[in-house]
Amino acid sequence: MPHRDPLIASTPPVRRVVVLVLDGLRADLVGDPRFPNLIALRDASAHTLNATTVLPSVTAVAMTSLLSGVPPADHGVDSDRFRVPDASRALTTVPHVVTSAGLPSFGVVRQVPWLIRSLAKRIVSALGLSTVRFASPNAHSLLAAALPELRSQRDGFIILHWPDCDAIGHRAGWMSPAYLAAVARMDHALGALRRELASTRHDTLLIALADHGGGGRVATHHDSAHPLDCTIPIFLEGPAVCPQELMDGLTLLDVPATVLWALGLPIPERYTGTPIRDAFLAPVRADLAATAA
Ligand SMILES: [Zn+2]
Repeated sequence: MPHRDPLIASTPPVRRVVVLVLDGLRADLVGDPRFPNLIALRDASAHTLNATTVLPSVTAVAMTSLLSGVPPADHGVDSDRFRVPDASRALTTVPHVVTSAGLPSFGVVRQVPWLIRSLAKRIVSALGLSTVRFASPNAHSLLAAALPELRSQRDGFIILHWPDCDAIGHRAGWMSPAYLAAVARMDHALGALRRELASTRHDTLLIALADHGGGGRVATHHDSAHPLDCTIPIFLEGPAVCPQELMDGLTLLDVPATVLWALGLPIPERYTGTPIRDAFLAPVRADLAATAA
């Protein structure tokens, strides 16, 4: 399928979507003056601090939903153990759709112990990413590992996962001094990423979100249905995005639908989310709706 042609020259189309997953970042920290880059992103974006993730609110479940567009009951990953989604589920992931359109999809995730490295590669390839790089498990290393593609891959899909806050949250507790220090490091890396994207912001849509919060029922975990565990922030920044606070009721599952819609690609029928059209200026909403397959 050919990539969408921009119909309206005055409304810059999205050529590339960068999804940034801030693992375990609590939504109620956005606005805290200790994290100026989160504030800058909030102010420049269409955003909500009151979206919800899938249940159970753990990373493997949320990341599989984020990439496959369907809830846990449909993709079958139901615990915090990453695994290859069952082939019988016949998932059509975001990277599958992107690749079918002849566009590249790239991801950078944390390095895993070598014993499970081949499993990690199988999972990633089942999810459809055409290229994946592994790097040390901190935001700055993961950003550095993504720089070549951030600078050279000008279209398609890029996903980055930064585990910093989650790792420290499990060890020291959400909102502990050590956790807040991890948020500060991630915030710093976020500033570097946004500066990196500044030169391409005319055609790159950045969608940053958390996969879950933490410290709801248990200080060092996040898998309950407590609002502090399930509430996530979602930010959209890029061409023709209208900075604003978005309505309540958005979910993590709206993100995969938004990625494909913004790229002008077909959204598989099974996807349960809805593109976050309200984030965009009205003419672009109409333009994208008219050209989406
Ligand atoms: Zn965790």
